[in-house]
Amino acid sequence: MAGKPPTGDPVQDAPDVTAPQHAAAGLPAIAHSLRVAHEQMGVRRTALTLLKVNQKDGFDCPGCAWPEPDKRHAAEFCENGAKAVAEEATLRRVTPAFFAEHPVADLAERSGYWLGQQGRLTQPMYLAEGADRYEPVTWDRAFDVIAGELQALTTPDQAVFYTSGRTSNEAAFLYQLFAREFGTNNLPDCSNMCHESSGSALTETIGIGKGSVLLEDLYKADLIIVAGQNPGTNHPRMLSALEKAKAGGTKIITVNPLPEAGLERFKNPQNVRGLAGGGTALTDLFLQIRLGGDQALFRLLNRLVLETEGAVDTAFIAEHTHGYADFERTARTADWDETLRATGLRREEIESALRMILASRRTIVCWAMGLTQHKHAVPTIKEVVNFLLLRGNIGRPGAGVCPVRGHSNVQGDRTMGIFERPAPAFLDALEKEFGFAPPREHGLDVVRAIRALRDGQAKVFFAMGGNFVSATPDTDVTEAAVRRARLTVHVSTKLNRSHVITGAHALILPTLGRTERDRQHTGEQFVTVEDSMGMVHASRGRLAPASPHLLSEPAIVCRLARRALGPTSTTPWEDFENDYAAIRDRISRVVPGFHDFNTRVARPGGFTLPHAPRDNRTFPTTTGKANFTAAPVEYPTAPEGRLLLQTLRSHDQYNTTIYGLDDRYRGIKNGRRVVLVHPDDATALGLPDGTYADLVSEWTDGSERRAPGFRVVHYPTARGCAAAYYPETNVLVPLDHTADTSNTPASKSLVVRLEPQQAPA
Ligand code: SF4
Repeated sequence: MAGKPPTGDPVQDAPDVTAPQHAAAGLPAIAHSLRVAHEQMGVRRTALTLLKVNQKDGFDCPGCAWPEPDKRHAAEFCENGAKAVAEEATLRRVTPAFFAEHPVADLAERSGYWLGQQGRLTQPMYLAEGADRYEPVTWDRAFDVIAGELQALTTPDQAVFYTSGRTSNEAAFLYQLFAREFGTNNLPDCSNMCHESSGSALTETIGIGKGSVLLEDLYKADLIIVAGQNPGTNHPRMLSALEKAKAGGTKIITVNPLPEAGLERFKNPQNVRGLAGGGTALTDLFLQIRLGGDQALFRLLNRLVLETEGAVDTAFIAEHTHGYADFERTARTADWDETLRATGLRREEIESALRMILASRRTIVCWAMGLTQHKHAVPTIKEVVNFLLLRGNIGRPGAGVCPVRGHSNVQGDRTMGIFERPAPAFLDALEKEFGFAPPREHGLDVVRAIRALRDGQAKVFFAMGGNFVSATPDTDVTEAAVRRARLTVHVSTKLNRSHVITGAHALILPTLGRTERDRQHTGEQFVTVEDSMGMVHASRGRLAPASPHLLSEPAIVCRLARRALGPTSTTPWEDFENDYAAIRDRISRVVPGFHDFNTRVARPGGFTLPHAPRDNRTFPTTTGKANFTAAPVEYPTAPEGRLLLQTLRSHDQYNTTIYGLDDRYRGIKNGRRVVLVHPDDATALGLPDGTYADLVSEWTDGSERRAPGFRVVHYPTARGCAAAYYPETNVLVPLDHTADTSNTPASKSLVVRLEPQQAPA
C-alpha cells in the first residue's frame, strides 16, 4: 500500500554528512527507485508504470530529455526517472478538502518538498480576491475568470504565457498559437533559464540552436569532453552511453569544479559488473576547474592546437567556415599564466588534455548548466564551437556539439514556437496556415517578464506547468512581482510554491500527467516529445487519470482559446481538442522537419529531425558558413576572503521538484541548507566543518542578498569555489545578473561571503 504524505515539514536543520561517494547507480539506485516508487504508488502501480516508461508503446519519462536507445531494456529508466514517474503517478491526492484545511498563508510557510509530497491535484481551484484559501471551481467558471481578465487588458502584452519543459509538442504548438492569436509574443520558458546561452551561441556559429550529436555518435567518438555537467544526477542514462563508449575505446575528459560520483565510476544496474562488480571507471582525465574558467581553458587549448603541426583541419576550415583569421590571431594570444589563474588548473593537466585531444580524430563536447549560467556563457560556448571547428569535429560521425537538455520536452517546446523572439519565417508560416497576423514585436523572456510584473506592466501571468517562483532568480523580488499581478494561473499536476505566491486572485488548473490515458472525443490520444538529440517520438499514457476532473493540456488551451478569443477566431480549436492528429497536421505545415508528422511519428521510436550541420555540413548562419568567433576571454574572480558560489541540484531533486532531502552521492542526508566549501578555504575563513553561516552575495552596485543558516560542509570543491542547492540560494541571484546576449540568470558564479552564525535552534 502506498505511503501517506508527510503531515509536518520534516526537520532539516541538522543534515548528516559523510564522505562523498565515488561511484553512481548500482544496487542502491535500484533500492532507492523501488522504495520511492512503492511509497508513492504501491506495488501494482509501480510495475504498471516502470515497465512502460520510455518504451516504444509507453510514455516518455517526465524527467530529463536524454534519448532512448533504439533497442530498449525491459527497465528503460534510471533512479531519477523512477522518482519522476512515481511523483506523477502517486496515489496521494490534493483534494478540495486539503485546501479547505490549509489557508494560503499556511501553505506559504511550507517547504517545497512538503508541498510536492501532498500528491496530485484533483480539481480546478480558485482563490478569489481577498479570500484566504482556494475553493473548488468549475472549468467553465475558471475559463470565464481568465478570459475576463485577458479581455480587460489594455494591450495583449500585459499578459505573460510561461511554459515549463514538460509540455508536449501538441500543447506547446496550441499554446503559442493561442498567445499569438490573442496578440502577444510574451512566451517565456524554462529554456530562458537553462540552455538559452547554448541556443544563442550555436545559432550564431552553426546556424541552429540544437546539438548535432545522435546517441550513436557517442559510441563512435574517440574523445568525449563532459564540461559543466553532472549526468549522474541530471541525465543518469547518459552514464550507460558513456560506459558503452568506453567499451569501444572512447576516452573521457571531465571538466567540473566538483568531483561527481557519476563521472568517476558507473555501476550499471543492467549488468552483473555493475550490480556485483566494481562497475566501469568513466573519466580518464578530471580537470577540476574554477567556476567560469571554461572559456579560458578552451581558448588556450585552441592556441595549443594551432601551434601543433598538422593538427588543424585546414580543408574543412577552408570549405565550411568563416572568420578563421580573426579567431586564429586572437587565439594565438592566449596566455598560460592567465589561463592557469582563470582555471585553477596546473600546466601538466592542460598538457595531458592536449595530448588526448590531438590523439582524437572524432571529438564530442557535452555540456549543461555549468557552461550556460555564467555572465560570459555565450562566448564560452562559442569557444567550444571554435575548438570543434578547428579539427573539423562537426558534421561527421562521432563528433559534434552536445548540449544536454534538462527538461523532457524543453527542446520540443522551442521547436513548436514557444519563444519570445520567434523567427519571421515561423510567423509567416503561422499566418499562412491560420489566416491571422501574428505579432512581430519580440516578447518577454523570463527575466523581462519578472521586471514587467514588478513594474506593473504585466497583469496576467499564465503558467503551463513548472514552478515559476522557485525556478527563477532573486526570490524576494520575483515573489513580490508575482503578487502585483491581477491574476495568476497555473496548469499543474502537483502542488508547488508558485500556487501560494499569487496575484490578486488565482487559479490552479489540474492537468493530466504523461503517465495517464488521454481520452478525447475521437478516442484515446497520444502526444509527442523531442529529446535532447532531436528525436521526436510518441508518448502514450497507461494509467487512469488521477481524477475525473482533469483536463489535458491541449484541452485546456482549446477551451480557453474559444472562450477568450470568441467567435471571431477561425482556428478550429474544438477539432484540435477532439483529435490531436489534427494538431499534428497543422504542425507538419508550419514547423520545418515535421512533414508527414502523423505517419512518421506512428513508427515505433519516431523520427529524427533534420540538422543541416550534422546531416550535410551546411550551416544556415548569416554567412552561410560555420562561424569562428574571437570574443575576449572573461572569467569571474572573488576578492580576498570571498568565494565563488554555484547553485546546483542535489541527487534527490529534479529542477525545483524536491524528491527527498538526501544527496547520496555527495554524502549528505536529511538536509538541504548546506554549503560545500574546500577545507582549506573554510579553514582560512574560520569555518570548521559543521558550523553554520549565512551566505551573502555582494554586487558591484553595493547591493547584497542574504540566504541565512547554511551548514558548512568541508568538500573537495575547486579552490575558491563553493556550492549550494537551489531554489534555497536563488535569493542570492539579482534579477539583473544575467548572461550577456542570452539573458540567462548567471547562477553559477556568485561572489559570496560566508558570515559565521549560531547553529539554528
Ligand atoms: S535519464 Fe532522464 S529521461 Fe531517462 S529515465 Fe532518467 S530522468 Fe528519465
